[in-house]
Amino acid sequence: MRLSTTPSGPAPPATSENTRTQLNELEVFARQVACCTKCRLAEGRTQVVFGVGDPHADLMFVGEAPGFHEDKQGIPFVGQAGKLLDKLLAGIGLDRSSVYIANVLKCRPPGNRDPVPDEKEACEPYLFRQVELIRPKVIASLGNHATKQLSGKDIGITRVHGQQQRIRLGSLDVLLYPLYHPAAALYTPAMLKVLEEDFAKLPELLGRTEVETAPAPVLEAVSAEPAVQLGLF
Ligand code: URA
Ligand code: SF4
Repeated sequence: MRLSTTPSGPAPPATSENTRTQLNELEVFARQVACCTKCRLAEGRTQVVFGVGDPHADLMFVGEAPGFHEDKQGIPFVGQAGKLLDKLLAGIGLDRSSVYIANVLKCRPPGNRDPVPDEKEACEPYLFRQVELIRPKVIASLGNHATKQLSGKDIGITRVHGQQQRIRLGSLDVLLYPLYHPAAALYTPAMLKVLEEDFAKLPELLGRTEVETAPAPVLEAVSAEPAVQLGLF
């Protein structure tokens, strides 16, 4: 097992397998993270959920942590919140294959509880290395955890959503664009509306003048359960 505890260090030497299959650097990195045991979440996971999408995407989404379905399938945002994310993407003429999607934590916290500080600290170098390899123009942080982790500031999502800020991650200068977490918006119509409005500004942030849109999706919140109970904002 080869673990990278210093992900920003030199790239690992190419193995014969890497050479044969021409793995890109991100895939090589994903294989290293797949056997990580740096924090307690390694014990309960089915698998590490590294991230999916275009390794050269201009737009990257960062959520909180895998949930039940993500842990089983090994893919981020495949549950209800993921379906909403897919619809929001379609509304601005994008889909999963044209963006990159990852989480702050790569392993599922038991019972979907909130990430705790030492877990976030242990996993942070993986996220930062991922960003360095993908080099997106815009990172949309979904919810409080991703926003605070990437901005390095303890300011909640309710105050900063929809406001882009320049951040420096290693050698990379990138635009951070905080958004409400789709799981929170699922249950709160007012928040869903704000999320849609914030999402609509993404094409402009990406420097796209034309958006090949499907007609705006009609999205509906599923119930009035207060998202605050989910600890998502
Ligand atoms: N919520 C997240 O933050 N990430 C996922 O991958 C799924 C739900
Ligand atoms: Fe490693 Fe991150 Fe999983 Fe913890 S959550 S075991 S640091 S990959």
